[in-house]
Amino acid sequence: MKPIHIIGGGLAGSEAAWQAAQAGVPVVLHEMRPVRGTDAHKTDGLAELVCSNSFRSDDAETNAVGLLHAEMRLANSLIMACGDANQVPAGGALAVDRDGFSSAVTAKLEAHPLITIVREEVSGLPPEEWDQAVIATGPLTAPSLAQAIADRTGADSLAFFDAIAPIIHFDTIDMNVCWFQSRYDKVGPGGTGKDYINCPMDRHQYEAFVQALVDGQKTEFKEWEGTPYFDGCLPIEVMAERGPETLRHGPMKPMGLTNAHNPTVKPYAVVQLRQDNALGTLYNMVGFQTKLKHGGQVRIFRTIPGLENAEFARLGGLHRNTYINSPVLLDPTLQLKGRPGLRFAGQITGCEGYVESAAVGLLAGRFAAAERLGQDLAAPPPSTGFGALLGHITGGHIVSDDEPGKRSFQPMNVNFGLFPPIEAPRTEGKRLRGKEKTVAKKRALTARALADCRAWLGLPEVAEAAE
Ligand code: FAD
Repeated sequence: MKPIHIIGGGLAGSEAAWQAAQAGVPVVLHEMRPVRGTDAHKTDGLAELVCSNSFRSDDAETNAVGLLHAEMRLANSLIMACGDANQVPAGGALAVDRDGFSSAVTAKLEAHPLITIVREEVSGLPPEEWDQAVIATGPLTAPSLAQAIADRTGADSLAFFDAIAPIIHFDTIDMNVCWFQSRYDKVGPGGTGKDYINCPMDRHQYEAFVQALVDGQKTEFKEWEGTPYFDGCLPIEVMAERGPETLRHGPMKPMGLTNAHNPTVKPYAVVQLRQDNALGTLYNMVGFQTKLKHGGQVRIFRTIPGLENAEFARLGGLHRNTYINSPVLLDPTLQLKGRPGLRFAGQITGCEGYVESAAVGLLAGRFAAAERLGQDLAAPPPSTGFGALLGHITGGHIVSDDEPGKRSFQPMNVNFGLFPPIEAPRTEGKRLRGKEKTVAKKRALTARALADCRAWLGLPEVAEAAE
């Protein structure tokens, strides 16, 4: 049988190689280290963790990444098995001994009879004779391959620089303060004239907010991240430093907006939120890319009227990150449209995080192996962590009517906002409220996800625990 070629032996490539080989398909895994390094990797080990040693929460009942851990364990993930075997104490989180973890992954892959590891840089798109290939070269993809991907997909389809605005869970926005309205009630194709959520500020609130941005602690760019700003992507605190009125004439301009709760008082400034996913459960802060430290972001953004209790699905950030415009370029099995058999996996697809990258590698490895074996493999249901992540990558985001052609797809960790909503169960017929309701909803989401994941993997149902 012809092998599947996997380029990049990081979190995603290692998992993809394992899944394909375990399905009985030979794999050639091409990893450029130690022949060529990256700015963040320090070793020649496979699945090296470049920064923290944490896979984040291991709570599969009320945490989305914990749920993804559980689904990956059900799918015999190599990354999870080696993570579990090299765990170090970290409360409810799964943290690992990074060297032990990477050595274990490397040893497992080296010992697999169907896997050949080649230490070389792949400097262009896989040749046509590699009819099944997976590109899993990560956020620090070597420049010549990145260039080849840009040449093939269009330069706009590859972002080297990640300016991310925070994303908020819709159900934590106070709609008694905020209102839906597009600027000047403009109706774009498919729009309603009420496509944005608006948060009003008076003069005093605005001035205090600008001052907080100027005073807020910023994260420093690392040397290897030395990418210059371009003007369309300035962090808000940099705009605030340019003068007190800059934001009011930029992303916070109040023009064309009337406060539905108080139509006679003109807002002095307005923060706009734009729907971020098709489900309408997530909204991003328009123009609010930022380098403020995460703690500062939460504190400062919760001073915005209507966002006092906002929960953030992700916070803003600015760093080098190579990722493709997956919703436009990939089909639901992670295959590049127009180049059958060539898949992408890991952070280069626009997921974020070690666990998410490995999960997307797991899916790519399974899709590629099924194709090689002539089997049909349906995509995981959207109600699962796998499916929610895949939905984000291959189609679940919204492109704004106001900015045609503007790339709106941003990398994201797995979070409950990506799942189809579910009603919170009632206890003895009583409606739950507050924190109890949130926890009950999360438990219902994860129970549904695990049952659907088991079905997708062809595993037997788990019997209900006796009362
Ligand atoms: P990687 O793990 O980077 O693997 C890609 C592999 O491809 C590398 O081994 C690389 O050497 C190889 N490669 C690249 N180009 C080629 C080529 N042309 N030919 C052959 N091989 C090639 N996520 C977290 O959850 N926690 C963190 O603390 C965290 N910190 C991060 C810090 C930095 C500096 C960066 C850049 C990212 C961080 N991330 C973090 C995000 C992300 O989860 C990790 O980058 C993760 O490793 C991505 O997995 P991956 O498999 O897609 O890429």
